[in-house]
Amino acid sequence: MSAKYIFVTGGVVSSIGKGITVASIGRILKNRGFNISVIKLDPYLNVDPGTMSPYQHGEVFVTEDGGETDLDLGHYERFIDIELNKKSNVTAGQVYLSLITKERKGDFLGGTIQTIPHVTNEIKQHITDLAESLDVDVMVVEVGGTVGDIEGLPFMEAIRQLRNDIGRENVYFIHLTLLPNLNVANELKTKPTQHSVSELRSIGIQPDALICRSEGEVPEFVIDKLSLFCDVNKQEVIPLADVDNVYRVPMILEGYGLGNSITKSLGLPPGSIASNNSWSSAIDEMDTLEEMVSIALVGKYVEYPDAYMSVKEAMTHAGLRVGRKINVKWVHSEDLERDGAEQHLSDVDGIVVPGGFGKRGVEGMILAAEYARVNNIPYFGLCLGMQVMVIEWCRNVLNLYKADSEEFVPGTPNPVIHVMPDQIDVTNKGGTMRLGQYPCTLDPESKSYGYYSEESVNERHRHRFELNNAYREAMEQSGMCFAGVSPDGTLVEIAESTQHEFMIGVQFHPEFRSRPTEPHPLFVGFLDAVKQTMREGAQYSFNEVET
Ligand code: GLN
Repeated sequence: MSAKYIFVTGGVVSSIGKGITVASIGRILKNRGFNISVIKLDPYLNVDPGTMSPYQHGEVFVTEDGGETDLDLGHYERFIDIELNKKSNVTAGQVYLSLITKERKGDFLGGTIQTIPHVTNEIKQHITDLAESLDVDVMVVEVGGTVGDIEGLPFMEAIRQLRNDIGRENVYFIHLTLLPNLNVANELKTKPTQHSVSELRSIGIQPDALICRSEGEVPEFVIDKLSLFCDVNKQEVIPLADVDNVYRVPMILEGYGLGNSITKSLGLPPGSIASNNSWSSAIDEMDTLEEMVSIALVGKYVEYPDAYMSVKEAMTHAGLRVGRKINVKWVHSEDLERDGAEQHLSDVDGIVVPGGFGKRGVEGMILAAEYARVNNIPYFGLCLGMQVMVIEWCRNVLNLYKADSEEFVPGTPNPVIHVMPDQIDVTNKGGTMRLGQYPCTLDPESKSYGYYSEESVNERHRHRFELNNAYREAMEQSGMCFAGVSPDGTLVEIAESTQHEFMIGVQFHPEFRSRPTEPHPLFVGFLDAVKQTMREGAQYSFNEVET
């Protein structure tokens, strides 16, 4: 059977949860037994988000095969429990780069290269090739941005054409919009949605379904009005009010019959939704958790928690496994430099230092590692978080006062973290780090092995620097255990203190592999240690930021 396609476009405003909605649609179809995958089309001109600031773009999600992709791919993997790849995220930059490379090679000699058909063909080809190579029943495609964006037009045109190319019965269009509430009149307004649908129609796309985000409940007459004005079946106008727990969205959409509408329209067997149970019972359980642990996330992009999306989600998943709700205390590492660690970390039960790049704020992260080590507070360092844990240890345990990373102090006399040999001659920034999944061999005597219960694991990476082997022996003699190394033993993947309940740093990003129903063993180990070492009567400050 050839693949069916669902295209999801956005209207009215951005940031209304298109990624979560697409991930939820994927979950619904997976629950019904279909083999599915997802593509995110991003209309910006960067080739990938790998070189974009976290402030602009949020987290860069790394796929198994080393793609540096949009954070929405993290939602897709977590909700649908699938592995995506580099091709699952297409940017306009990639499309033009590929086209222009072909043009320079002479592939189009004599021809004029144009948006239609050349750019649109390139986009269509990418989508259908991936669907065929993965042999999916349904490919769900999210079009980034909002209808009306100039840069999004070639993508809109491409999906319009696809409907004709592969037959209307094989394509389903969903448009996600916002119903703003006018406080003065206490009225939900449908006009922006009407305009958005009419904009979509002007480029030849009539949505089959509308999903309408709103703050609260949407009255029946509003649904009727949208159905009439937008020419969409009433049962396919689906209200989606704000939810406390985004993992509930698949059940909400199912509740409104979206799964039935999609399968009916695409001529698919409806499938059984019984397998929904393990997902929904996990989510129900999440909402009943009462006891809380407070975890400081010490980073330099904390004003913008989207930069740490997968870390936050991985903690939520592991929290479910250990029966604790997570209160994330977002701590700016530069604040520790100004005020000292005690002021910001005395009320937390555990400390996470996530990944990052560049010198700013690093000294504050090193103070966080020291505070955790001296006070035996569980510490989990992810990539940069491992590197600062090692720097702190070398400075304060081995008395190498100038210990540093070559990334922050090039030419430091004690480069305990140094540039990886195969990175020395790299000059281009885009897509050139050590990226993607690599194997890691575990020491059966280590704590990490105890959490994983496996001798060899695969984890995803994104870094240029590594632990300098010249300092390994001295560190081991002072109580550091290199619990995980590359199979040839040359690259340290996991460092753990033998003297602490949980002081573990990993050179990889375990957060990318976590799922709500399958938390990552190291995050579970971390939170277990947090539970065990929690300080009696700790006063929590709640500054959770919803993302
Ligand atoms: N900046 C560090 C490196 O390149 C850490 C990277 C990260 O945390 N992802 O090695």
